Amino acid sequence: MALTRFGAGRLEPVEMATPGAAAGEIVVRVLACGVCRTDLHVVDGELPHPAIPIVPGHEIVGRVESVGAGVTTCAPGDRVGIPWLAWSCGVCAFCTTGRENLCPRARYTGYQVNGGYAQYAVAQAAFCFPLPSAYDDEHAAPLLCAGLIGYRAYRMAGPGTRMGIYGFGAAAHIVTQVAVHQGREVYAFTSAGDTGAMRLAREVGAVWAGASNEPPPAPLDSAIIFAPVGALVPEALSRTLPGGVVVCAGIHMSDIPSFPYNLLWEERIVRSVANLTRADATEFLSLAADVPLRTHVRTYALADANRALGDLRDRRVTGAAVLVP
Ligand SMILES: [Zn+2]
Ligand SMILES: [Zn+2]
Repeated sequence: MALTRFGAGRLEPVEMATPGAAAGEIVVRVLACGVCRTDLHVVDGELPHPAIPIVPGHEIVGRVESVGAGVTTCAPGDRVGIPWLAWSCGVCAFCTTGRENLCPRARYTGYQVNGGYAQYAVAQAAFCFPLPSAYDDEHAAPLLCAGLIGYRAYRMAGPGTRMGIYGFGAAAHIVTQVAVHQGREVYAFTSAGDTGAMRLAREVGAVWAGASNEPPPAPLDSAIIFAPVGALVPEALSRTLPGGVVVCAGIHMSDIPSFPYNLLWEERIVRSVANLTRADATEFLSLAADVPLRTHVRTYALADANRALGDLRDRRVTGAAVLVP
């Protein structure tokens, strides 16, 4: 299922030759592929310069079919995860200082490199990961972006106990379980009246769930914003204590309205989180093997990719949507 025109807002079924593996690459049969909000931004033309046509999907659980020359980290028959970071240069000032997530030459799965809304996918072996065996294919898929990049956002939020999470979808429901496991209190903010998201938040351990314009029962040490809504930045800042951190975790957000300086005063911090490093993936997948996390998924056939994207766009998905070819 491919985006064949920039900003088309929907995917078309496309027939492509089954790919082969060049040196350093693997070919996988796709077992499951998560549907991420970033895919929606690509399909809706909110991110610049996608490859066209492009097969979206960067939460790929695949079975290795063949490996190219020089691949020693996995073999045919292995189950691997393929995440958003498809390749980074390895030699620039970012890559050589542990920040390959910021590599200016990086390429991303389902954006510049064909992703997992397909029967087969090709990936660089060095950017794939073994997955914890406790998770079946469809429940493992959301770990690969919602989990990984959600976890990076979580780490950037600092050590405070009370954490707010704005936008309670796939990433939030995983991050909440990590936070609770590590002794934090999670306050979940959803769209007003989204009782499904509020119920999921409480189910996975949030101590409070309410609408995003409501005051939490106690001031927050930090907040993570997963919803692509810029107005939530001053809103979240207004709920944090001095020294509070507000992390914007999405790749795209509507404009942030201007706000009085006193919301930022007292050493509050606003920051974004971009992409992932392979070290993030290793650390998070090891944590996911230990906790273990319960991912809530709704599965769709590959041919129903547009329906899955539509359900995500219109907030009809509670938890994570996953395509199963
Ligand atoms: Zn680089
Ligand atoms: Zn994603």
